[in-house]
Amino acid sequence: MAGSSTSAQTAALYLVLLGAPGAGKGTQAQVLSQKFGLLHVSSGDLFRDNLKRETELGKLAQTYMTRGELVPDDVTIKMVAERLGRPDGAAGAMLDGFPRTPAQAAALETTLVALGGKVNLVLYIKVSPEALMERLTGRWTCRGAGAHVYHMKHNPPRQPGVCDVDGTELYQRDDDMPEKVSTRVGEYLTKTSPLIEYYRGRGRLAEIDGERPIELVTKDLFAAVEAVRR
Ligand code: AMP
Repeated sequence: MAGSSTSAQTAALYLVLLGAPGAGKGTQAQVLSQKFGLLHVSSGDLFRDNLKRETELGKLAQTYMTRGELVPDDVTIKMVAERLGRPDGAAGAMLDGFPRTPAQAAALETTLVALGGKVNLVLYIKVSPEALMERLTGRWTCRGAGAHVYHMKHNPPRQPGVCDVDGTELYQRDDDMPEKVSTRVGEYLTKTSPLIEYYRGRGRLAEIDGERPIELVTKDLFAAVEAVRR
């Protein structure tokens, strides 16, 4: 029935991208949110925006972020719930980097029920731990609002150091430095990876092989989303 909303509004669509840091969540979330007309909600970008604006939340998050650790659940949940509830999220959202703990997953269910929705599909981008290090340490991010992501080797910008989309300067994130990367991957393995079973058990997990060219991963992600929209 996709595209044929006659009476009531089409139900909002909530997608979650799950995967280790460096799995390609940010890159794919941008394409997916555009394709399906969803708000892109990246908890990492929300934290970085607060950091840039030097808000209280930003100051609190900074300590954890610079160490490569997860920010405590209560502040993270509050921040994401507030963002999802704004009018531009009425058609649904593409969640990128949230939930990252079982407590966050439970809170997301509650938040979405209050908004009249649910997690429709969890897209798990699977990448081996060995590939992650090389990916993260070669990653460059743009300073523009879209925080577009490139990789020196696998996805370089047309002009070195400049974002293809908005022309802003590219920079290497502090937490993409090698020593921070291993902490982040460790956090993922202990705190986030249990969510794979959590969502698989609820029949809402689509597993995608993330160790292939970006376009092929995108193609499979699109197909998985189309299947739940039918
Ligand atoms: P990301 O851009 O998703 O890799 O996030 C960068 C950093 O922001 C992480 O290393 C954490 O410190 C923090 N962060 C982002 N999302 C979350 C989350 N869902 N829960 C806790 N901390 C988060």
